[in-house]
Amino acid sequence: MTDANILRDKFLIISDAFPRLDLAQRVATVRREISGRIVFTTSFGIEDQAIADSIFTQEIGIEVVTLDTGRLFPETYELWSKTERRYGRRIHALYPHHQRLQALVARQGPNGFRASVEARHTCCATRKVEPLGRALTGAVAWITGMRADQSPDRALISCASVDQQYQLIKVNPLFDWTRDRVVAYVHDRCIPYNPLHDRGFLSIGCEPCTRAVAPGEPERAGRWWWEQDEKKECGLHARQPALTRRSEPA
Ligand code: SF4
Repeated sequence: MTDANILRDKFLIISDAFPRLDLAQRVATVRREISGRIVFTTSFGIEDQAIADSIFTQEIGIEVVTLDTGRLFPETYELWSKTERRYGRRIHALYPHHQRLQALVARQGPNGFRASVEARHTCCATRKVEPLGRALTGAVAWITGMRADQSPDRALISCASVDQQYQLIKVNPLFDWTRDRVVAYVHDRCIPYNPLHDRGFLSIGCEPCTRAVAPGEPERAGRWWWEQDEKKECGLHARQPALTRRSEPA
């Protein structure tokens, strides 16, 4: 069986199973059905905290990693520590390549990402996307906290897709959950979450690039708010065609 067929096979198993499973069962199913290294990337948002809780409380062999850009909120670092204490697990951090970071800051200054969309993408590429590539090296599956209703750009995500860039299966266990459902889940289980969420920061990234949103504003409107027409994405989640039974890989 080719790698593409194996990935398609896993996608079909997951997409068949997910609709009838709760979050804990979804995460366990991914581990049971996929052999090899599975990586969950957390930015400590509320969705990520729900997934991390499922992994840690069930003691599932899935690596939990984070990308420390060096520009996160103090509240995020505090939550990171609190989460490690709560579950007794270390969350593996990846950092930007120091020479690339030095070159970036030498070129555009500490806050050069505001100068242009291109400059911002360059900063995200250096601080996030390149470390993500290292985090996923050798992985066969990547778990994310993405939901379809987070933004129009994410509306088409499904439970899983084959990520062509990293050549692995990308799984979104919360793809069909609403934000309200995630919040209720976290509160019901007393899962630690970022206090910034209660102050209007619905989506939390780097401190200088995130603001609170007003009631009724889109969930990701506070990300790179100065960019009027740009997609609210940093490049970690390139749009991938989702597999379906009618659209199978060659
Ligand atoms: S979110 Fe802002 S500070 Fe963080 S990597 Fe992207 S541009 Fe740089």
